[in-house]
Amino acid sequence: MTPSSPAPRPDALHGAGAAAAGAAAGTTGDPHLDRYAARTTGMTASEIRALFAVASRPEVVSLAGGMPNLAALPLDSLAVEVGDLVATEGQGALQYGSAQGVPVLREQIGEVMAFEAGSLAATGGFAPDDVVVTVGSQSALDMLTRLFVDPGDVVLAESPSYVGALGSFAAYQAEVRHVAMDDDGLVPAALEEALERLAREGRRAKFLYTVPNFHNPVGVSLAPGRRAQVVELCRRYGVLIVEDNPYGLLGFDGQTYESLRSLDPENVVYLGSFSKIFASGLRVGWALAPHGIRDKLVLAAESATLCPPAFTQLVVSRYLATHDWRSLVKSFREMYRERCEAMLGALETHLPEGCSWTRPRGGFFVWATVPEGVDTRAMLPRAISARVAYASGTGFHADGSGARHMRLSFCYPPPERIVEGVRRLAGVLDGELEV
Ligand code: PMP
Repeated sequence: MTPSSPAPRPDALHGAGAAAAGAAAGTTGDPHLDRYAARTTGMTASEIRALFAVASRPEVVSLAGGMPNLAALPLDSLAVEVGDLVATEGQGALQYGSAQGVPVLREQIGEVMAFEAGSLAATGGFAPDDVVVTVGSQSALDMLTRLFVDPGDVVLAESPSYVGALGSFAAYQAEVRHVAMDDDGLVPAALEEALERLAREGRRAKFLYTVPNFHNPVGVSLAPGRRAQVVELCRRYGVLIVEDNPYGLLGFDGQTYESLRSLDPENVVYLGSFSKIFASGLRVGWALAPHGIRDKLVLAAESATLCPPAFTQLVVSRYLATHDWRSLVKSFREMYRERCEAMLGALETHLPEGCSWTRPRGGFFVWATVPEGVDTRAMLPRAISARVAYASGTGFHADGSGARHMRLSFCYPPPERIVEGVRRLAGVLDGELEV
């Protein structure tokens, strides 16, 4: 933890996680247990959230969480802008607003997308009117699942998948079918097989959920040559694509990828976020969707929250208008590259034989595979005793598989702590392999 970035409130997180887990297990003596809707049975505490409490103790090196590092944010000049926002636009900034989001920010989102895509045209056709501002992309995931998924409907998702998306799918009682990935991302042949199998069953997935760039948790990107294949397959089988892209601007060498949306704008809902390129605590993200889906998203937002907060949207808007945000993105890339290199070097030096891991070119995460017989979920308490935390692979699979994997985050601790964390982790693994 750096002094400028306070730790999350561990007790609060722990309390909420423990309560939710207890309720799901029916162990808390909650007098309301027989009242909850059936869908809440799928709502369990994310393993990762429950981990935050222990992982944020100062003596533990946490390679578990995915918190962006905000140390580079220009807090002084931001404070001036926020003060000025209240002084000069306070009436509007503190008022209810449009459920679709404030127009000025929807315009500026085009600039962010053009920075990634190379030009506005390369985004697949950007119009501010197609954007719905959301409370982080997490709320977009929740709303999209609410819009599309009836209990038992199939959602296709990479194996493994982002834990927050799996949480939304579970909350709406989706049946998640995982599709294999390799070092080049989602495997088109495996996607085709899953689509074909569903067709044989007389079923059709509601959507494919994918994180094509610097994937969470695996760290790899969908190879350029596969993108058109994935889009074409989904089009052929009549399956919508939800393209979740919070890390696309965080390629260490500045490399970016063609969005799936640009290949088929009418069949892709694109999700973006300011969490990793500016400030996760403001909770501002966006969806770019075909008109029909956009309209439904606006209705879903109205019924969930009336509108996203005007204030946080205008803070983002001010930041984009008054700061050299492109340079800041570049400095984030440098910082994360340095941390990733520290992690990869330490893994190479310390991890026992039989372990393997991905070599990300951007984003926040390395995905490691341990030798057969090691169970990363069962090992976690021993790792925490050895003062290192990671996220077990089991949290990233809807069926709880993945125990031979773990996600190692390099985004938050400084390089020397990462190296120390990997050294401790290697010691724990050595112990597991001896027994
Ligand atoms: N999608 C992915 C793949 C993520 O990693 C995250 C954050 N960890 C989110 C969505 C949610 O981001 P936001 O802060 O915009 O809600």
